[in-house]
Amino acid sequence: AIMPTLLAGIANGARQGILFKDGAQLELLGQVKAIAFDKTGTLTTGQLQVSQVIPSPGQTAAQVLQVAASLEAYSEHPIGAAIVGAADSALLPVDNPQAVAGRGITGQVAGLPTRVGRIDLTQGDRISYGPELDAAREQLESQGQTVVWVLQQEQVLGLIAVADEVRSQSQAMVQRMRSLGIQQTVLLTGDNPRTADSVAQAVGIDRVYAQLLPEDKVKVIKQLQQQYDQVAMVGDGINDAPALAQATVGIAMGGTGSDVALETADIVLMANRLDRLEAAIQIGRRSQRIVK
Ligand code: ADP
Ligand code: MG
Repeated sequence: AIMPTLLAGIANGARQGILFKDGAQLELLGQVKAIAFDKTGTLTTGQLQVSQVIPSPGQTAAQVLQVAASLEAYSEHPIGAAIVGAADSALLPVDNPQAVAGRGITGQVAGLPTRVGRIDLTQGDRISYGPELDAAREQLESQGQTVVWVLQQEQVLGLIAVADEVRSQSQAMVQRMRSLGIQQTVLLTGDNPRTADSVAQAVGIDRVYAQLLPEDKVKVIKQLQQQYDQVAMVGDGINDAPALAQATVGIAMGGTGSDVALETADIVLMANRLDRLEAAIQIGRRSQRIVK
């Protein structure tokens, strides 16, 4: 049976846009000492926009976008939506599109084997490209942008840079976590280290783990649990669901969060209000004091 004080906490949460699915997690949230955050869609808005297209010599930006968008039309990733939104020529026919979790998407575009995503989207092959592409990539990544490779038949057609915005509430929220006595804040992302560091610095996160696959996020949560016992994870994506399940308390971003994240989480921050995390922790702590 749920204690009346927990019910009061749940009701209080509901009034403030915080959905607590059960009382046990509400209490545990009050004891959390470390919090892990996903990057895209959690600390950032997740409203991605194509900011730049860098074609390889002999290609045009429009061609690069057309090939990438044709394949990304089959993706559910926000990067895919950004690329499809930016392309203005008609899409090419695609066969056998396959999303590769945490890496990108592959398929045949107009009969040619094509990959859009991380350079290591498929392992074990060598792709050569000019130093100017690499320099452009590094520069864009250090500005916090995500750079996507467009590869066709082992050739680099070009790069597409996708920009995301740090949520206006993120920095203040991370500071509040420190004031609340949270000992460690951590960023977990599938994105590259340079982009991850840039976001972590902007919001004041303590530690960064980048280039993680969904199962790697779970491993980091387990490590944190050994050190801090009660660990919360805040995320929004399909790729966050296993880590949300592993965390002592899983917290999903309502509004833009994927269905799987919302189902898996113990707590949902409604209407995408990341700043509600502070109120959630305080409600958790208050419920605890009364119960004991
Ligand atoms: P995050 O943890 O930041 O939400 P993901 O795990 O979803 O990121 O993806 C990790 C990386 O894989 C992305 O930064 C991107 O480089 C690449 N990626 C994943 N899906 C796609 C896609 N559909 N198109 C292009 N790149 C992708
Ligand atoms: Mg995300």
